[in-house]
Amino acid sequence: MDDLQLTLKTTFGYNEFRPLQREIIESTLAGRDVFALLPTGGGKSLCFQLPALLQPGLTVVVSPLIALMKDQVDQLQAVGVAATFLNSTLTADESRSRLRGLHRGEWRLLYVAPERLMLDNWQENLKNWNVTAIAIDEAHCVSEWGHDFRPEYRQISKLRELLPGIPLMALTATATERVRADIIKHLKLRDPGIYVASFNRPNLTYRVLSKDQPQKQIIDFVRKREDESGIIYCASRAGAERIAEALAGRGFSARAYHAGLDVVERSRNQEAFLRDNTKIICATIAFGMGINKPNVRWVIHHDLPKNIEGYYQETGRAGRDGLPGDCLLLFSGGDAAKQTHFIDEITNEHEKSVARAQLRQMMHYAESSGCRRSELLEYFAETFPLDNCGACDNCNEPRETYDGTIVAQKFLSCIYRIRQAGQHGVGMNHIIEVLTGADTEKISRWNHQRLTTYGIGKELARPAWAAVGRELMRLGYVAQADSEFPVLEVTEEGRRVLVARERITLTKPLALPKAKRVARREGDIECDEILFARLREVRKRLADERGVPAYIVFGDTTLREMARAYPTRLAELEGITGVGEKKRAEFGDTFTRAIDDFLKSNPRMKFD
Ligand code: ADP
Ligand code: ZN
Repeated sequence: MDDLQLTLKTTFGYNEFRPLQREIIESTLAGRDVFALLPTGGGKSLCFQLPALLQPGLTVVVSPLIALMKDQVDQLQAVGVAATFLNSTLTADESRSRLRGLHRGEWRLLYVAPERLMLDNWQENLKNWNVTAIAIDEAHCVSEWGHDFRPEYRQISKLRELLPGIPLMALTATATERVRADIIKHLKLRDPGIYVASFNRPNLTYRVLSKDQPQKQIIDFVRKREDESGIIYCASRAGAERIAEALAGRGFSARAYHAGLDVVERSRNQEAFLRDNTKIICATIAFGMGINKPNVRWVIHHDLPKNIEGYYQETGRAGRDGLPGDCLLLFSGGDAAKQTHFIDEITNEHEKSVARAQLRQMMHYAESSGCRRSELLEYFAETFPLDNCGACDNCNEPRETYDGTIVAQKFLSCIYRIRQAGQHGVGMNHIIEVLTGADTEKISRWNHQRLTTYGIGKELARPAWAAVGRELMRLGYVAQADSEFPVLEVTEEGRRVLVARERITLTKPLALPKAKRVARREGDIECDEILFARLREVRKRLADERGVPAYIVFGDTTLREMARAYPTRLAELEGITGVGEKKRAEFGDTFTRAIDDFLKSNPRMKFD
């Protein structure tokens, strides 16, 4: 075992590094600048926390999220690391005492907000504190092209002049090519080691259901997961409130979280969720930044997200501890139409076309019959190597297809005829109106009731035609102009299959959910579920006594491993993930005793 492995084990209680952690740590210890792009839950914090323990001096961690600082510092203190933070939530006395500690070199890690670094007396301080490394968390905040630009981040590069020769580490979970380049440029990284992990989250499963009585769908879903924490994302505040009430009214432990609540209630609800006092949070996207609760087991999207990036980040909040998480999206064409309507109101042409393209990608994701995982990864320019991921609805239960030759021909020739008949292109709605033989003002104005394709599609309802149209776009037979009017055209390829009367296979629309019990999830650590529940209570009591969230004591992985190995003596805690020396000394007795007690009245289960 080398030093890195040893510290990982004795302090953090982990047996192995996650992908790229070791490389990043070695690089920074060698004095090199680092750019690290790891997905949520990838274990970014460890990349600067562990080296901070292996070298003398202070590691400064710049983070934009005041709410997260306390959390991270609590977690570090729980494993015996001298870490502290300075921000506006502290009293003057408390700040002074921490500053004294910094002058005396008592801390190994200091968390600060970026705006603080630039105060005059701080610059003097930093020079005196024997800083050996600087980590910039959420580094995408430096870029205007990121989703969370913070002007203060632009100041950080001044640290370079102030502390020449000190290695900088920039970390983020979200960065397109453009944002990546921005980070390197604006933070003035020097020949950085660049580490980009896969964005695949192997422990998450993905599923899309056709939205139909969503409240009932949600209740069916959470009923099978009574003990688990989850987040339900809604597009509107009212929606979040409504779902929270519906769930609470049925005895579920659920609360709302959105920007319309006052600060006190909002932080109370967030706190309750972090501490497992409430299991379910019904939230708008305001909830999330700054949530690093590791044991979120599922995420439901009640409404269609605006873009894939957002969807990826929001679902990414499930399963940060590496245990399974389930992601469910409720999709309806109606929701998409509503969004299209909002987008039409946008006055800035550039924004409008970006929003349109993003919505199109999102709908493509929802309606595609391809692997959800590869679709998501494709968005991040990553290719998923397998044909079947084994953990999404489309891979596990391939969608039914049908011979769609006739409907496709009707749709394509309708576009074609309208074009032939004259003047200008038309959008999806009008095509469908012609197909279904509607009597609209536009149809009579343009004489479209005379077209040979008028009324030839009465066998399908409008939403079904819209689904056909979208699939033909996905297949590349129809293109939508990216102009002010989203006009449809038959593509070269579309014309070819139409002329050749080629067979076209279409996918049946998303089926309504089958009432089916989900089996215990794959990847979950099999354990004595009754003991696991008992240990959760012990954990909760310890956490409440200390006024911290449960996961600061131990994560679910740790408890599951205990509920499998039944350690009744301290020595038997060896090898259990997440039990380092400090936590073994502090909590070991309580847990081993609880297990010993449990075994007096319960049989020991066998696992292979
Ligand atoms: P990120 O900031 O990249 O989203 P975190 O740093 O919050 O991820 O880590 C996510 C979770 O994984 C935390 O609970 C952390 O303690 C845990 N973790 C980090 N590294 C390891 C490891 N090598 N082995 C096991 N768990 C780890
Ligand atoms: Zn798949």
